[in-house]
Amino acid sequence: MKLHEYQAKEVLASYGIPVPEGRVAHFPYDAWMVSMELGLPVVIKAQVLTGGRGKAGGVKLAKTSDEARDIAQELFGKKLVTKQTGPQGVKVRKVLVEKVADIDRELYFSIVIDRTTSRPTVIASKRGGMSIEEVAEQYPEDIIKIPIDPAVGFLPYQIRRLKYDLDLVEQGKEAQKIFSALYKAFMDKDCSLLELNPLVVVKNGHLIALDAKMTIDDNALYRKKEISKMRDLTESNPDELEARFAGLNFIKLEGNIGCMVNGAGLAMTTMDVIKLAGGEPANFLDVGGEATPDTISKGFEIITRDPKVKAIFINIFGGIVRCDKVANGIIQALKTVKVKIPVVIRLTGMNKEEGMEILKKAPMKFYIAEDLREAAKMVSELSKKQAATTTKKAEEKTEEKKEK
Ligand code: GDP
Ligand code: MN
Repeated sequence: MKLHEYQAKEVLASYGIPVPEGRVAHFPYDAWMVSMELGLPVVIKAQVLTGGRGKAGGVKLAKTSDEARDIAQELFGKKLVTKQTGPQGVKVRKVLVEKVADIDRELYFSIVIDRTTSRPTVIASKRGGMSIEEVAEQYPEDIIKIPIDPAVGFLPYQIRRLKYDLDLVEQGKEAQKIFSALYKAFMDKDCSLLELNPLVVVKNGHLIALDAKMTIDDNALYRKKEISKMRDLTESNPDELEARFAGLNFIKLEGNIGCMVNGAGLAMTTMDVIKLAGGEPANFLDVGGEATPDTISKGFEIITRDPKVKAIFINIFGGIVRCDKVANGIIQALKTVKVKIPVVIRLTGMNKEEGMEILKKAPMKFYIAEDLREAAKMVSELSKKQAATTTKKAEEKTEEKKEK
């Protein structure tokens, strides 16, 4: 789960890490008020869960309160398109109004989990403000990497080294305290990423976290109630949200074959096999260990809502749940949700034979496959055929219109 900048800064401040004075505004007039309260000039920053806002016009300076209001007004209607968002961009719903920092130097500091060493790793550089990927490409020698053994923590000698490498001798104990607090916050909050880009030295010599990104490990949220409460659902895909509330694990993809599978491992495999067969999955959907009529219906509902979907592949393994029960569930679901595109079903596992019998006797039409590869091939071909028919139908319709 990603936190907004203002939320990450609240967390950091609670660890004694200096952040700029500021407040969130939800309306242009809020921004006007906050700027009055803080004193001018202020910087107005779009709060969206993505990086690269500055370059996309999401970070602006205001010299007067009226200007702060106007900038906020402009940002609120805007869809911010950054390197990370894709062409559709994200809508700005809140802005952070902060007192402007008088920057002397911009540094880069982050802690990530390095998967190859399985350790939290500090990455830092004197070249802050630009993306770390660019620094890595252009000035690889300027990147400092410090692996940390979580059993002993971020050790004083490592912290001192970092202080020298970033030219923070003058900041002395202040720098050490901040680095140590950053590591503590990272560990305490079960972060997978904590990034300050930039961490700045201001003209009077002090350090300030000018920007902050924090990502919390989703698997730790159950024990981080205070963090879970910060979740901003407004930027999530509505279908993904609906699925989550129904207990399904759904992720939207770009293809045209809807997938309904039980178990995350099988769902991944299913997508691979579809790709190998020349098809394109439209989603990842794990209906969970128990595929009940309710979860299956919900799955159909969400999958068929996407007009791009031209065929559906149901791939269920009867482990916890028996195939006959699943077969009945599918039939019941197909009675409530009208599915107008081809459906391919493959069942295997416990009570497979009984399940197949039930499917064969079903009153509605669908395709039954025995083997996974065969099933994937079948659904890929059906999706292409269906796509061709819909294009043809659409063409005929436009022809008709023209004739009229
Ligand atoms: P990002 O583009 O999403 O990473 O947003 P940042 O918060 O990092 O802001 C981008 C850039 O705007 C920073 O690298 C700074 O150069 C500049 N900036 C942001 N806040 C201030 C500020 O208070 N004072 C000054 N002088 N520059 C700022
Ligand atoms: Mn930044």
